[in-house]
Amino acid sequence: MADPDGREGPRDECGVFGIYGPGHEVSRLAYFALFALQHRGQESAGIAAADTGGYIITQRALGLVSQVFKEHDLQALGGDLAIGHVRYSTTGSNEWENSQPVHRSAGSGGNRRELALAHNGNLINAVEMHAKLRAQGVTFSSTSDSEIIAAALASHPAETIEDAVADVIPQLRGAFSTVVMTNDKVVAFRDPAGVRPMALGKFGDAWCVASESCAFLTIGAEYVRDVAPGEMVVLDADGLTSRQIGDPAAREAFCVFEYIYFARPDSQMGGGSLQVARERMGAVLAREAPAPGADLVIAVPDSGNPAARGYSRASGIPQGEGFVKNRYIARTFIQPGQELRKHGLRLKFNPLPEVVDGKSLVVVDDSIVRGNTTRQIVQMLRDAGAREVHMRSSAPPIKNPCHYGVDMSTREEMVAHNRTVDEIAAHLGCDSLAYLSLTGVYEAVGAADPGRHCDACFSGNYPLQGTTEANGKFALETSLPLAQSAAR
Ligand code: SF4
Repeated sequence: MADPDGREGPRDECGVFGIYGPGHEVSRLAYFALFALQHRGQESAGIAAADTGGYIITQRALGLVSQVFKEHDLQALGGDLAIGHVRYSTTGSNEWENSQPVHRSAGSGGNRRELALAHNGNLINAVEMHAKLRAQGVTFSSTSDSEIIAAALASHPAETIEDAVADVIPQLRGAFSTVVMTNDKVVAFRDPAGVRPMALGKFGDAWCVASESCAFLTIGAEYVRDVAPGEMVVLDADGLTSRQIGDPAAREAFCVFEYIYFARPDSQMGGGSLQVARERMGAVLAREAPAPGADLVIAVPDSGNPAARGYSRASGIPQGEGFVKNRYIARTFIQPGQELRKHGLRLKFNPLPEVVDGKSLVVVDDSIVRGNTTRQIVQMLRDAGAREVHMRSSAPPIKNPCHYGVDMSTREEMVAHNRTVDEIAAHLGCDSLAYLSLTGVYEAVGAADPGRHCDACFSGNYPLQGTTEANGKFALETSLPLAQSAAR
């Protein structure tokens, strides 16, 4: 998904990591794992670490992983166990208070529980959970639903964190791939539907968990398996233990957009590499939506690359590099302003006239949300001399917002909302437009049972009971100030 102005398309959600590894440099490992997960969130980063039996030290700040942590920070964190988080705000605004890991403590004396928590997903019953906890006297310092989970666990009367998790999970609704640490163990769990990913890995004699297996590749850990929906894994001095908490008969709803766009192509999901699945999406797209007479296939870099390759191979139309990418682009906190926007700020890439001039192009992108960027791309290519521009999307039309942890824009902002494909093509200014079908997506990812996935942003079928337009982040953000002021 291209975002030259930094604000287009669905925002990546969050990435989490956890490791129990006395004798290893756990904070440094967490740093590099977060570095590998940076694509899942660029607004804030944080690591919490502890020596066994000691206090949990948490460092978190707005910014990229490389901006938040310096060498001396990692040395100061140290620790035998650590968790980490990169964030894009889905619930709660982009403020320091909403960065993670969330650090909570409750109780006193022998009943005191201190924990740090990192969460990827979105609770759809956050408002109810928030009200219930406030009624019990629990206070909050952020507008993040992750603090609700942390508060529920920290204040829970159960003797062990595992028992607290086992009791709290059935009370939560929505998507929550979560890591929690106390001063002697890391506990990781996924919601019963398994909406967001989480993988289990081994680093020497140490166990670790991460949102995606690409984090393991980066630190030299081995990918063992996915954490199952509704499963709780405990990493501590006893090694690895696992407990099924959620109803094993619950409907699974793994996010199909992880395959299409969010996850890194070198991550393993559903038993295969995403790079291969994305190439297959391009091949199926070429079959479903050929472009006879086209001269060249080009990708919208980088996320369109694998599907463009698949399209080119399957169609026999050669592939070329139509764009030059700025390799050093990172999300900027400086907004371009009206003047630069008007002139079409090209932060991310520029077209190559030598390649596209006079050509009929098939332009492959992974998805189109609001369409502003795609319009710019079409215009840039025409300005560079392209004779025809045939847009192809390796995702179906996105027509519905996500309530499970991905900021997708509102329905009204989506270019496919209330428009036919021809109307969208006219709006984008391209000669033709076609989308991969949902059936084609499932064929490409080799999903034996599409009913075990979520595809609500395409189909409108929200798989989790209790999902409504009113729940999720918007309701929480608007109700929190009221709840807080009422309590003062
Ligand atoms: S609505 Fe879309 S982005 Fe959200 S979980 Fe479902 S498939 Fe994924």
